[in-house]
Order: sequence, then C-alpha cells, then structure tokens
Amino acid sequence: MNHIDEFCVPHEYISPMEKHLRRVLRNWVDTYVMPNRRLYDEDWKDHHLLEPAFDRLMAGLGFQKAMFPPECGGWGLGKSDYLFRAAYAISEEIGRGDTGIAVAFGVTFWPIFTILIDPYENMRLAKELAPLYCNTDKAFFAANAMTEPQGGADIENMELLKGKTIRTTARLDGDEWVINGHKLWPTNSGGTGKLFGVPCTTKPGSDDPNDFAFIFVPAETPGVTQSSPYEKAGMAADKNGDIWFEDVRVPSWYRAHGPGTDFIAFYQLISLGQVASIAFLTGAMMNLYERLYEFVSTRTYRNKPLKEHDAVAAVIGRIAGDIDICRILGYEAAMIGDRRRMPYGDPITSERTVGRIRNIKDFVSDRAVENFGTAMDILGAYGADRDWDIEKHWRDIKIVQLWMGGKQLCQMEAARYYFNCKTL
Ligand SMILES: Cc1cc2nc3c(=O)[nH]c(=O)nc-3n(C[C@H](O)[C@H](O)[C@H](O)COP(=O)(O)OP(=O)(O)OC[C@H]3O[C@@H](n4cnc5c(N)ncnc54)[C@H](O)[C@@H]3O)c2cc1C
Repeated sequence: MNHIDEFCVPHEYISPMEKHLRRVLRNWVDTYVMPNRRLYDEDWKDHHLLEPAFDRLMAGLGFQKAMFPPECGGWGLGKSDYLFRAAYAISEEIGRGDTGIAVAFGVTFWPIFTILIDPYENMRLAKELAPLYCNTDKAFFAANAMTEPQGGADIENMELLKGKTIRTTARLDGDEWVINGHKLWPTNSGGTGKLFGVPCTTKPGSDDPNDFAFIFVPAETPGVTQSSPYEKAGMAADKNGDIWFEDVRVPSWYRAHGPGTDFIAFYQLISLGQVASIAFLTGAMMNLYERLYEFVSTRTYRNKPLKEHDAVAAVIGRIAGDIDICRILGYEAAMIGDRRRMPYGDPITSERTVGRIRNIKDFVSDRAVENFGTAMDILGAYGADRDWDIEKHWRDIKIVQLWMGGKQLCQMEAARYYFNCKTL
C-alpha cells in the first residue's frame, strides 16, 4: 500500500457520484491549494490570494450550486439519499489540502440546509436565495451564526436546552421580523459572508421548541455590523468575527419554516457539521500520510531509511492504521446521517444519532491531534518547518477539535445517549 486511495472505503454504500466528485476536487486541490497553501496562511485578513481559488471551486466548477434543486438552477444534492456521504467525500478531499478552505466552503451551505433538505424544504426561500449561489461567477459565502458571547456549547445542546440560553431575539412586527443580538465566531463572518442564518428566540429563556426561530438575514441589511476577522492559530481561509444585530428588519417569510419545524430543521445542522468535521480531519490525516511517507522513505538513519527502523516503523504503522480506522468511522457517521431516510434508520434529531455522531467526531479529533503531534516527533525539527506542512495541519486540526461545542459537549451527548443521563 502506498497511496491514500488505498485507505478503507465502504464500496458497498458510497455514492455513485463519489468517484467523480473526488476526481474533480483532487485535481482542484493539487492545482490551486497544494502549491499555495503556505501563502494562503498569510492571507487570513484579506483573502486576496484565496479568492481566485474559491472562485474556481465554487463558481467555476459549480460546487456552490450543489444543494439547490434543479428548478432553482442547482444540482439537487439536498434531495439525495447520499447527502451525508457525498458531503463526507467532498469535505475530505478539500480537507486534505486545507481544512480552513474546507470549512469556509462547507459552511456556505450550512444555513441553507435548513430549507433544502427533504422533508424540510421551503421553495419560496430557496427561489429567493438561489441566484446568490447559482447565478454568479464569484464565490458566495454564507454563515450559520449560532454562537453567542455567553456560550456556544449550550446553544448546540439542543436536546437538553432547546434554545433556552439564546439571547438573540426575534420579534414579529407586522410582516417583518425585528432581530436584536450579538453573535460571534461564525465561519464566514469577519466580512466574508453575505448571508447569515440566525438562530433566535421569540421568547427569551423559553425551552419550548416552538419559540426557536431560524431567520435568514442578508449581511447588508441596515442594523447589521461586523468586526474585522480574528487572528487565529490556523484556519486562515475561514474568517471569524463578531456580528451585531440592532433592530434589524427582514421580511417575515425569511424565517426558515415556523414554530417547531425551525427547531428540527436547525437541529439537523449539528450532525451535518460533525460529519463534515470528521471528514476535514480524515482528509488532513490523508495528507499527513503523504508527507510522512515521503519523509520516512527519503531520510536515513545509519544509512537506512527511517521507516526501516523498528522504533519509527511501530509509530508510523500505528498512524496509518488510525487513519484507516478513522475513515471507517467517518463513513459510518455519514451513513448514520443518510439512514435517517431509511425505514430502519433513526431520526436525524434523535439522541442516538446525535450522540453517536458526536462520539465519532470526538474520537477522530483526538486521534488526529495525537497523530499530528506524533508525526512531528518523527520529523523532529522538520515537524516545525513550514516546508513540510505538518505544522500547518497541526495548527488547523486542533481548532476542529475545539469547535461545535468543544470536546466536552461531544462527551456529554455521548454519555447522555449511552448512559441515559438526564441532566447533561
Ligand atoms: C474556526 C472556528 C469556526 C467556528 N465556526 C462557527 C460557526 O460557523 N458558527 C458558530 O455559531 N460558531 C462557530 N464557532 C464557534 C464554536 O462553535 C464555539 O466556540 C463552540 O461551540 C464553543 O462555544 P464557546 O466558545 O462559546 O464556549 P462555551 O460554550 O462557553 O464553552 C466553554 C468551555 O466549556 C465547555 N463546555 C460547554 N458545555 C459543557 C458541558 N455541558 N459540560 C462540560 N463542559 C462544557 C466547552 O467544551 C468549552 O471548553 C467557530 C469557532 C472556531 C474556532
């Protein structure tokens, strides 16, 4: 075995599109990302260098149309039985090159999943928003603005808290929603995103799912202000910042659905985000394998390649084995998501679905963080040398471990399902 495509793939249940999607994306990553990614890391504030690469991927190759139905000019992936598995393959291929690019790309779809995934479709809004994604030759970015200053993990803890801690309010005034609040950290904020999906409460402090609202807000709407992007350890292609909403007015029909359904449609995003995160990690680890393979095959110790020494072989064997296992788990997580449409599957918002997918994400995050650290031990000084790209992924993938409620929320939701906990 000497190629990343040899890592485990469950051929019996991958999407028929997968081979083609991977081939196109592999080519884009090798052309646009691999030669430039160290420069992209310096481009975190302006994205001058990143923009042409995003334009090619999202508008040029057409990927930003993917979720919309054909009648809106899209590819119809939102209705596909393979949605989670296709998202897994796409996210992994891009993550192999740069997990920051992968998340900026993926999150562009995150808010519109609430209105495009069968059975929670809203065709009026889909037709309203489709031109932004489908009729342009430029990359279009959107954000899912969940996190608030008092704590993002609680907002994602949907099963237990049901939106109770959300402080961003939505008040219906005639045929408009009036939104007030403060969000921070969303991927594609910091000035990039032109559309925000905003989880709000219509009754602060309520844990009634009927009081949860998911409302679309164009970034240019009066009353919306944004900070400049934060400077982070990594993930330069993803801008993050503050968004303030002050008496922001949008048409009433910019709400995803209505009482109760908004809650479920939004809840789906948690598992989708976790599956994509797992794919970013396995993608980065596939590239770890490529770079490590080159290093241990070309560097010598006592005139023998490093990989021919017991102490090194034991470690690199373990790393490759972990990548294989993590990939099996990643596809399983994607399959749990896609099984929601099958008679024997679990609903996407069930504790079982959320707990199991969060558990896999936490496990793969830990393996990735540990394996990048171990690979750096093997590369020694070259592990810290930007030329080898290991330190880049090492900075980036630690962030994947921390987002979406962090490690603890993954552990809590897994414990809740497996141990039937009542208060976590
Ligand atoms: C690169 C990047 C991209 C991001 N993208 C987005 C995005 O697209 N949209 C968005 O809304 N947010 C985004 N975030 C924010 C991220 O999701 C939050 O930082 C995360 O959910 C944690 O929220 P918090 O930072 O407010 O921490 P808090 O919720 O305040 O948590 C603080 C600490 O307490 C722990 N904790 C939380 N709950 C429990 C519990 N029940 N038991 C024990 N410990 C607990 C947490 O794990 C964490 O370590 C992004 C962050 C980063 C770094």
